[in-house]
Amino acid sequence: MLEADAEGIAAALEAARVRFRETLAESHTTALVSFDQATVLGDHALCARALTLQGDIATHRGDLREAARLAFEAERHVLEADDPVAMVEIAGLRSHIFFFTGSYAQALSYADHAISIADRSGDAQLRTQARRAAYLVFGNIKVRGWRERLRELLALTKETNSLWEETVTRNDLACELLDDGDVAAASAEIERALEVALRIEGPNSFVLSIVYCTRADIDLGRGDPHAALADTKRSRMLLESINDPNPYVISANVRAEVQAHAALGNLDEAQRVGDEALARLGDHMPRSRSQILATLATALREGGRLEMAYDALLRSAELERVAFSEISELQLDLEKATRRARAARRESEELAVKNRELADAQSELERRASKLEELQEQLIEQADRDWLTGLRNRRYLARALGHTASEDLTAPFSVAVLDLDHFKQINDRFGHAAGDQVLVRVASLLGEATRDTDVVVRSGGEEFLIVMPQTDAQAAGVCCERMRAAICDATWDEIDSELALTASVGVASTGASTAMEPLVKLADQRLYEAKHAGRNRVVD
Ligand code: GH3
Ligand code: MG
Ligand code: MG
Repeated sequence: MLEADAEGIAAALEAARVRFRETLAESHTTALVSFDQATVLGDHALCARALTLQGDIATHRGDLREAARLAFEAERHVLEADDPVAMVEIAGLRSHIFFFTGSYAQALSYADHAISIADRSGDAQLRTQARRAAYLVFGNIKVRGWRERLRELLALTKETNSLWEETVTRNDLACELLDDGDVAAASAEIERALEVALRIEGPNSFVLSIVYCTRADIDLGRGDPHAALADTKRSRMLLESINDPNPYVISANVRAEVQAHAALGNLDEAQRVGDEALARLGDHMPRSRSQILATLATALREGGRLEMAYDALLRSAELERVAFSEISELQLDLEKATRRARAARRESEELAVKNRELADAQSELERRASKLEELQEQLIEQADRDWLTGLRNRRYLARALGHTASEDLTAPFSVAVLDLDHFKQINDRFGHAAGDQVLVRVASLLGEATRDTDVVVRSGGEEFLIVMPQTDAQAAGVCCERMRAAICDATWDEIDSELALTASVGVASTGASTAMEPLVKLADQRLYEAKHAGRNRVVD
C-alpha cells in the first residue's frame, strides 16, 4: 500500500468524488485505497469520507443494502471526527439511501442538514456539493420553491466554475419545465445543458447520457418520436461505453424508448425493448423493472393490446410487491442501524461527561494539594518565628545549625547574648502592653544594627541571641556596641515619653572555642558580668 499524508488523501478523494459518476471503477479503487491509508493515519474524517464515497458509488449502482452498510460504517468515524466536509458527505449519502427506500421525510431532513452544515462552513465548493446531493431528493419530491432553488444552485455552479454540476442543474431545470408543460422552454434549457456538458474537460459520458435521456422525454413532449429514439440510443450507448449499470437512468431511458416506439405504432418493438431491458436488469431493482412494465402496459393499452397490457400490469404489480418488501426490510435494517449509532453516540457523550468530571476532580485535588503544601510551608515558617516580634526563635536556630554545613560555621564567628535591663520595672510602671511594644521596637533596632548575614533570635522573654558569621572578636565588639547604643539612644515617645531603656551584652568569639554551645555559655557569663558591672554595657 502506498503511504500518503492527510492532504494527499483528501486531494485524491476530492478528485474522485467530483467525477465518480463518470469513472465509477477508478473512483471506487481510489476510495478503497484512501480508506486503507486513512486507517493507517488514524484519521477519522478521511476514513469517513472514503467510506461515504464507496457508499455513493454503491447507491449509483443501485446496491442500497451495501450503501446502507457503508453509511453506517462511515457514521462511526464521523462521530469521532467533527469534520464539516465529512458531515456534509455522510448526510448526502443518507438522504439518498432514505430517498431510494421511500423514507421521504428522513431523506428531506438529511438533505436539509447537508445544506445547512455546508452553508455554515461558507465554502462555495462544499455548498455546491451539498446542494447537488440534496437536489436529487428535492427534485423528485418537488419541494416548495424547487425552481428558485435550482436557479440558486445554477448561480453557485457558475461561481465555482463547476461545469458538470451546471449541466445536471440545467438538466433538472429542463425536467421541471417539461413537467410544467412548457416544452419550448424545456427544449431551450436542455440545449444549454448539452452545450455546457460538451465543454467539460475530461470524461462526461454519464452526464451526457442523462441530458440525452431528458431530451428524449422532451422530444416525446414535442411529438417527435424519431428524435426521441435517436436520443435514447445516444444515451444508452454512452452508458454502455462506460459500463455504467445505473438503474435509474437505464429505466428512464428504456421508458422513453418504449413510448417512442409505441408513438410510432411499433408495439412489437416497444415490447421487445421493454423485455430486453427487464432481462438485463435481472433480479435487481424491482422498482425500476416495475416502472418499465407500467410504461409498457400504458403503451400496449393505448395500442389496443389489452390482454398483453393487463399481463404487463400484473407483472408490474408483482414486482412492486417485491420492491416494497425489499425496501421495508432495508428500512428496518436502516432504522436499527440508526438506533445503534444513536446509542453509541449517547454512550460516547456520557463517557466524555464522566471524563470531564474526572479531570475537574483531578485538578481540584491538585489545587488542594498545592494549597496544603503552601500551608505547611507557612506553618513551618510560623513555628520558626517568635509570634510577638517576628524574629527567629530557638527552634529555628536549632534547625538552622543542624542543617548548616560545617564550613559555614568555621572560624571566625561570634555569638552575643543581649538582655534588657530592669525590664520588670518597665512592665510594672507602664504596663505589660507597653512592655510588648518595647520588645517589638527593640527587635527592629537590632535588625538595623546588624548585617543581613547575622541572625537575631529572641531566645527568651527580654533576652536576644545574635549569631554573627564571619565575624572576629573585634568586629563583634563593634557590632554589640552599636546594638547597645541603638537601644540606649532610642526615644520612646510613642509609647511613653518618660520611658528609658538600656541593655547589657555578653559576647564570645571563636578562638576560645569553635563549638556553638560553649560559646553561648561564655557569652551568658559575660552578660552576667555586664549586669554586675552596672548594666548598659558590652563585655567581651
Ligand atoms: P535585669 O536587668 O536583671 O535583667 O532585670 P529584669 O527585670 O530585666 O530581669 P527579670 O528576669 O527579673 O525580669 C524579666 C522580665 O521581663 C519579667 C517578665 O515580666 C518580663 N517579660 C518577659 N517576657 C515578656 C513579654 O513577652 N512581654 C512583656 N511585656 N514582658 C516580658
Ligand atoms: Mg533583664
Ligand atoms: Mg532576662
